[in-house]
Amino acid sequence: MKKIIHDKTFVPFLTGKDIQQAVTRIAEQINMDYKGRSPLCIAILNGSFMFASDLFKQLSIDAEISFIKLASYKGTSSTGNVVTAIGLEAVLHNRDVILIEDIVDTGKTLSAFLPQLQDHQPASIKICSLLHKKEATVHPIKIDYLGFEIPNLFVVGYGLDYDGLGRNLDQIMQVEH
Ligand code: 5GP
Repeated sequence: MKKIIHDKTFVPFLTGKDIQQAVTRIAEQINMDYKGRSPLCIAILNGSFMFASDLFKQLSIDAEISFIKLASYKGTSSTGNVVTAIGLEAVLHNRDVILIEDIVDTGKTLSAFLPQLQDHQPASIKICSLLHKKEATVHPIKIDYLGFEIPNLFVVGYGLDYDGLGRNLDQIMQVEH
């Protein structure tokens, strides 16, 4: 069924069942890859809260989770795009870090944040994203755990919003085109 949010019409794209299957598949991969280790998951708010929660419930390894917000602002021409991580209090040195994102679009946010994360000298960093808009790539990001490659169209639901609304949908909807 279609849904109108603000001024846009959205059509069904991924069902709750599709999403849960992807979550289970990713959790199984992480459980296998991190067997005997204790990774620290860092979920990037706001959009990833639902995905991070569902994924975390399915991790059977000794995993920890922490939540951060990334605030971006324009730096000087030499520094380019700058992001500040709010709430990054965990000690990352020598930790296996898994970054949890809702969607990688141009890759700008993560490409600005990853070097800062590297400065903390974690043992490893892996990226887990529910969605990836490959066609929108400006800054290529290697996604280690991915739910779905999706077309370059705006989506809402399952934590993702359109101007504040739509986060509570249990499915993901795509803007009608
Ligand atoms: P990037 O820096 O990779 O271009 O953008 C990443 C961020 O842009 C995501 O974390 C998300 O907040 C936002 N974003 C990109 N595409 C979409 C989309 O289709 N729908 C929504 N709701 N947010 C998006």
